[in-house]
Amino acid sequence: MERRWFLFLAFLGCSCLLSLPQSVLPSYIAYNTTAGIVPGKINVHLVPHTHDDVGWLKTVDQYFVGANNSIRGLVCVQNVLDSVVSALLDDPNRKFIYVEMAFFQRWWRQQSPVKMKRVKELVKNGQLEFINGGMCMHDEATSHYIDLIDQTTLGHRFIKDVFNQVPRVGWQIDPFGHSAAQAYLLGAELGFDSLFFARIDYQDRAKRLKDKTLEVIWRGSKSLGASSQIFTGIFPKHYDPPDGFVFELNDVAPPIQDDILMFDYNVKQRVDDFVAAAMAQANVTRTNHIMWTMGSDFKYQYAVSWFRQMDKFIHYVNMDGRVNALYSTPSMYTDAKNAANEQWPVKTDDFFPYADHPNAYWTGYFTSRPALKGYVRFMSAYYMVARQLEFYKGRNSAGPNTDALADALALIQHHDAISGTERRHVAADYALRISLGYLEAEKLVASALSFLLKPKEEPKSPDISVTFEQCPLLNISHCPPSETALSQGKSLMVVVYNPLGWEREDVIRIPVSNNKVVVRDSGEKEVESQILPVSTISSRLKQLYVKAYLGISASESSMYWLAFPVSVPPLGFGTYFISIASKTDEEPSSIISTVSNSNENASDPVEIGQGNLKLLYHPGVGKRTQYFNSQTMVKVDAMLSYGYYSGNDGTDKDPQASGAYVFRPNNTYTIKTDDQAYLTVVRGPIIEEVHQQLNSWISQITRIYRGKDHAEVEYTIGPIPIDDGIGKEVISKITTSLKTNATFYTDSNGRDFIKRIRNYRNDWELEVNQPIAGNYYPVNLGMFVEDDTMELSVLVDRSVGGTSLIDGQIELMLHRRLIHDDLRGVGEVLNETVCVPEKCEGLTIQGKYYFRIDPKGGGARWRRTVGQEIYSPLLLAFSEQDGDGWLAPPVMNFTGMDPSYSLPGNIALITLQELKNSKVLLRLAHLYEVEEDKEYSTMSSVELKKLFFGRKISEVTEMSLSANQERYAMEKRKLKWKVEGASDEPEMKRGRPVDPADMVVELAPMEIRTFLVGFHYPQIYDF
Ligand SMILES: [Zn+2]
Repeated sequence: MERRWFLFLAFLGCSCLLSLPQSVLPSYIAYNTTAGIVPGKINVHLVPHTHDDVGWLKTVDQYFVGANNSIRGLVCVQNVLDSVVSALLDDPNRKFIYVEMAFFQRWWRQQSPVKMKRVKELVKNGQLEFINGGMCMHDEATSHYIDLIDQTTLGHRFIKDVFNQVPRVGWQIDPFGHSAAQAYLLGAELGFDSLFFARIDYQDRAKRLKDKTLEVIWRGSKSLGASSQIFTGIFPKHYDPPDGFVFELNDVAPPIQDDILMFDYNVKQRVDDFVAAAMAQANVTRTNHIMWTMGSDFKYQYAVSWFRQMDKFIHYVNMDGRVNALYSTPSMYTDAKNAANEQWPVKTDDFFPYADHPNAYWTGYFTSRPALKGYVRFMSAYYMVARQLEFYKGRNSAGPNTDALADALALIQHHDAISGTERRHVAADYALRISLGYLEAEKLVASALSFLLKPKEEPKSPDISVTFEQCPLLNISHCPPSETALSQGKSLMVVVYNPLGWEREDVIRIPVSNNKVVVRDSGEKEVESQILPVSTISSRLKQLYVKAYLGISASESSMYWLAFPVSVPPLGFGTYFISIASKTDEEPSSIISTVSNSNENASDPVEIGQGNLKLLYHPGVGKRTQYFNSQTMVKVDAMLSYGYYSGNDGTDKDPQASGAYVFRPNNTYTIKTDDQAYLTVVRGPIIEEVHQQLNSWISQITRIYRGKDHAEVEYTIGPIPIDDGIGKEVISKITTSLKTNATFYTDSNGRDFIKRIRNYRNDWELEVNQPIAGNYYPVNLGMFVEDDTMELSVLVDRSVGGTSLIDGQIELMLHRRLIHDDLRGVGEVLNETVCVPEKCEGLTIQGKYYFRIDPKGGGARWRRTVGQEIYSPLLLAFSEQDGDGWLAPPVMNFTGMDPSYSLPGNIALITLQELKNSKVLLRLAHLYEVEEDKEYSTMSSVELKKLFFGRKISEVTEMSLSANQERYAMEKRKLKWKVEGASDEPEMKRGRPVDPADMVVELAPMEIRTFLVGFHYPQIYDF
């Protein structure tokens, strides 16, 4: 060595070369990566991971193949999986976790048999572990629990089928706040031993860091309590590694340079950095185990760049000996935490809302892209129906089937999909996938109904086959079969299918072109019906949106809505016939509604409602609308109003604008209250409506059905004007005089209701910076407020944001159109438009919410049972009369159950699906929480023999929620945890195991039970 180099190294303080004997030249170093847990030391669990969004700035397929790379960089999930697998094969001590099955499935089907075999070995020996394991890492605010169960089941069953593995850990690292249903249902009930994530309120995090309470035992359900608790770990900062330890190709962290023949030898420095970062984290963590999440968004494009550094750190850090570093997984980490025998703090309720900054509450996304959110809810219900009908017909693997719809609905549960925080072209990609899935499911539904209408003794008889059409755009009065059949003088058959396990009385509405019609039931008995006008706004929407979505011009002939009551058996259908009143002497059964307008000089109050419920409108400013139920004798003022928040543009001291994620209002504007707007009153025997135009872009129809004790509000909002340079977030409020003491309740993914107190958090002393945005919560099913005597409840038809900023009031955010990006990565403004060839305009949405006021204690029954009916609307299928006379099909009513049987009113059938292996997946859900309703918050039971009437059950196996393991095995290996201040936990009640003799399933409040059911064939339908 030349003297000048020697001096230079000495100057740098490097004595490495000096200590080497001349004969040992630096060469290959065999890094010792075998480390396991060392008792008594700080153990740094290095968890290599990648966070791969199943669509966000790019579509899922673009991310997978690495296309469209002009958008934010070179990310390609194929590269990740290819390079991770080869890096794992290089060293058996290396580990990796993979989360998103949508990507993994894409990759897996392209692999050679040899590669598949190797990957199976990696999974078997624990080097590659699937955690979370759903198709995507789902959103927790704007998603419905039934969708979450379905998307998780799809991923888990893939993992089980291909790898015979059962994921043990929930890994929701990126979603923007965390729900109670995630913890107890999509966590504990899946058999997960732990749940990890990053994003909680910045104030909450600060306190937890101080108190060492980032790791807790979370009991998300007050009904199921400790029986569905889960160990939950919140990362100290985010889900990437500590600063200075990110080793993606384009990152700046200094790699370990340990070749003494090169410059910048830095082993000691890097080991010191590692130990310092580990000690800092150990200081905020209980036990001597800490986890480093070694990865981040789309990392491991070239996996060796990470593994090389981790190999070296494990080697040198463990030689140093101050702390112990090891390759690990969240499962190993969880086991280590469990073995530490620590007592953990208990967490109840949830982690909403999420703020990462004083002015940045991520509560805007509860409403962002409301049309997409509505579409998902509609299709989710359709998917449930389609699977039921597929079961009754018998699954045909050649199709059509529900697989494509299942896949599309799973993808859109992703936390940048249904949340509305993806780019516009990505939102369009999700919607396209759903619509393609729908088209196939629609064929299945039509063929299943046609099959069920055939006489079973002559199943092959072709001449009585009925073809069905359905109307997915019925909400905007577009329904070609009902519009054209009658206009051509033909009769129309309507099959009405009820996916719920109890009989339903409801009113259906279909667009028709003739106002003199006769409706008959399957016994040829005339059914009362009513003709209502289609509003001008609906007609305009129909023309524009049919053109935009279908590329065709909608018929202008349907001038009327025809409404009539239907009665449908559980899990079955009824059939109705509509014909034009004959020219001769036949009287139409349809009663034409009267329409009247109020005007400025009107002074008399207007009352609507033919049944128990009445709304009284008093003309004149300041006089509120009254709500009166003659049965419950509830009489109270209830005023509906609309307004908007102007979205902050981020030009004040804080550059935080309102955007796709963040709601940061600037000012509040009231548009109009319903006592200030003119009324158009539509009266009739079945439905009464008040139409109001609140301004040029907001209108509403308040609708009361004779047989229903709630009001239905159909709102039409848009295009929201932005030509004044102001983004707007549109709200609707119901204001009453209830003294609600700053308290309100919102649901968790459509499941448990959680108590919210304005400007208050259970877990820390809240510093209020955003008194509006910081009080918003996700609403999927509904919300309610109560005082000593009454409760006001609202149910929604899609997920929205909701709050109660003033006592007695419920506020829902229904639509948002913004003109600034909120700097959380999407890089696009939330400005949705709809385009036809001639023009684009801001998106108009039409949706519904429902409200009702009950005596205190009486609202749960409506929220739960009617809530389930709103989630699962009746399915309508139409068939035209063929030829002159109506050839009635021989089977006009159907129920899949024992005709004398009905599920209890507190139990819903949430899955009935024939699997590829011909087993049937069955899920039953108790809809009530403990203490919610005197009669319904009780143990209830379902008789499987009657549910599967006419089929002989051969076996019933209770499974975990995602049906990937037997329930008893899951319970047996569940980890036990100790909690702080543990007094004896009351034993939570659950249904007893199913006795094969009586086959009765018991369900305790909030319990969901999942079964695989086998049948002896042939079935009753010998096809
Ligand atoms: Zn993400």
